[in-house]
Amino acid sequence: VKVHLSKKALNSDLQIFRTDRKTIGLVPTMGALHTGHLELVKKAKESTDIVVVSIYVNPTQFNNPADFEKYPKTLDKDLEILDKIDVDIVFTPENQEIYPSNPELRLNFGLLEEVLEGAFRPGHFNGVGIVVSKLLNIVKPDVAFFGQKDLQQVAVIKRLVEDLSFGVRIEVVPTVREEDGLAFSSRNMRLNPDERMAALVLSKALFFAKSELLRGADWLTVKKQAVQLFQSEALCRMEYFELVDPSTFKTVENFNPRDLSSICTAAYIGEVRLIDNLPIID
Ligand code: AMP
Repeated sequence: VKVHLSKKALNSDLQIFRTDRKTIGLVPTMGALHTGHLELVKKAKESTDIVVVSIYVNPTQFNNPADFEKYPKTLDKDLEILDKIDVDIVFTPENQEIYPSNPELRLNFGLLEEVLEGAFRPGHFNGVGIVVSKLLNIVKPDVAFFGQKDLQQVAVIKRLVEDLSFGVRIEVVPTVREEDGLAFSSRNMRLNPDERMAALVLSKALFFAKSELLRGADWLTVKKQAVQLFQSEALCRMEYFELVDPSTFKTVENFNPRDLSSICTAAYIGEVRLIDNLPIID
């Protein structure tokens, strides 16, 4: 694997592939790689000739300084993994390379940034939108790969790409889970054994709610039961548990099997904030 820290070196490398008419796939990550990330890489390798993985912990998308400081960093191990699975290029820029100056631009995603993650993490999607725009402009991929695990982020990025006419195809990869149901996340590394057990409440509540909805239960009753499940877990503090339209993030009051809908949740397990979601009909 070739590792580039600068846009210049990355680009002179990519230029050769572009001249050869190779298609380029980008997998943006914040490192601390896990099986979920590797699924994105696998999809990228299946559908593009050259795969670029970026590893950059973007400071502007962290609304909580402690979360930023404690974000897991395992760069040597990440590079070893990416080398082993034959990724072509890794882009690991320093802050100066991405933010030579502080952006003045502010992105506004309307309802998408006002609800759920947007409401609980002010400024988060502005930071995501800016860094993803930068990465798309730097790498100029044909296809960029994102995980359904961050469902609201997917909706934000699709809007960004549509509204600003980025000529890139967005591919969404379904959430990869541990055997017991917990969605893979870099932040899982911060959980102690008790918290790791407690973290199961997110996926348990989601799978419970999905099966209740599919057997005809009404959403408000299901939500109440799910909230009780969170409350029964002492190490857990739930932030939200909502049924939404996955492209607009309008909340849905009554489940309709003819409409696309997903349940989204966020909860603190100890000091670690986790998110998860589950499509009911997809
Ligand atoms: P992150 O490093 O957390 O910013 O994630 C990088 C990309 O991997 C994002 O597009 C995430 O949605 C995706 N991702 C993270 N966890 C998972 C997972 N468990 N399954 C599938 N994709 C994931």
